[in-house]
Amino acid sequence: MDEAAESPIRPGGRYADLEIHEIVGSGAHSTVYRATDTMLRREVALKVVDTAHLDDPVRATEGILREARMVAKLNSPHVVTLHRVHDLPGSTWAFEMEYLAGGSLSERIESSGPLMAGEARRVLQAVLRALDAAHSRGIVHHDIKPANVLLGEDGVARLTDFGLGRFMGGEDLPAEEHVPRGTPYYMAPEVVMGLPGTPHSDLWSVGVLLYRMLTGRLPFPERTIPSLFLAIQNAMPAPLDPSVPPQLAAVTLHCLAKSPADRPASAGALLEELGGPGEALPVPDVLRATTGRTPTSIVGRHVELESIRTHLDAAAGGDGRTVLLTGEPGIGKT
Ligand code: ATP
Repeated sequence: MDEAAESPIRPGGRYADLEIHEIVGSGAHSTVYRATDTMLRREVALKVVDTAHLDDPVRATEGILREARMVAKLNSPHVVTLHRVHDLPGSTWAFEMEYLAGGSLSERIESSGPLMAGEARRVLQAVLRALDAAHSRGIVHHDIKPANVLLGEDGVARLTDFGLGRFMGGEDLPAEEHVPRGTPYYMAPEVVMGLPGTPHSDLWSVGVLLYRMLTGRLPFPERTIPSLFLAIQNAMPAPLDPSVPPQLAAVTLHCLAKSPADRPASAGALLEELGGPGEALPVPDVLRATTGRTPTSIVGRHVELESIRTHLDAAAGGDGRTVLLTGEPGIGKT
């Protein structure tokens, strides 16, 4: 009998309280399903990894558990929430996670091109908040890239995939672990030279991610590993488009400084330097004063919100204009 047909983890299948729906994506060693937790009545994502087909199933299992424990320890709202890990029959593991309907940032860039400045800034802030949480607990992510940033329907962004994450200085790593760790296009100069990753090397990768969000391109697009690693260590990144706002261009180049000491001091320091609103628009003081409550976020209107944010960003950047919202009573201007 077909092995796949026996597995409860298949579209239309059921496992524990989970109703399995369609496949929403796949990685090198994983398949991700949308599912419903029928007990809690919420959507979840189920990332299934079958270690039996991997070179070293025992080490793979150790890696899976290490990643899960790391994410559980992090417990940050800017990191995809891990609900639990299921140990399935046949060396198969399933990460039950928060479901983010917008897919990954890389899928988004591939399908719709570069992000608008306001949106890129919010994704950047979410990634920096996640890194601030990780670094302050001594964890280096080692694999910051658009494929590891997931988007919610409402534009919220969360960092995921701590599979290459490591506690700083906490481990006596076996010799085979002392190889450059990460995805080549996003690796920092010191990492391609074989030095261990640090919070500063994660910030370099943030620079590559930001460059990619703003332009759709890579700062170092070389196609072979030797020429790529040479460019990462010695070349200047290809110029950013003139339409990129000066603050974001400056942040990108600051993160892409060749020497770690010349990059931002930390993810937290960079967040402060960026300033401005985070993921949600600030609640106007007048509304707080009149209602005494903080309203819940607006549902829908993503296109309008994005357009307003872009105009507000330009106004805040000193283009000398003000932003006027008009419309009939009750349409949600406030
Ligand atoms: P690899 O882990 O092999 O480097 P990857 O990071 O692309 O590859 P996965 O983490 O398995 O692989 O994710 C594959 C795809 O599944 C993602 O690109 C995304 O579209 C989808 N996906 C992953 N996690 C979730 C989630 N929590 N919610 C919704 N979709 C998800």
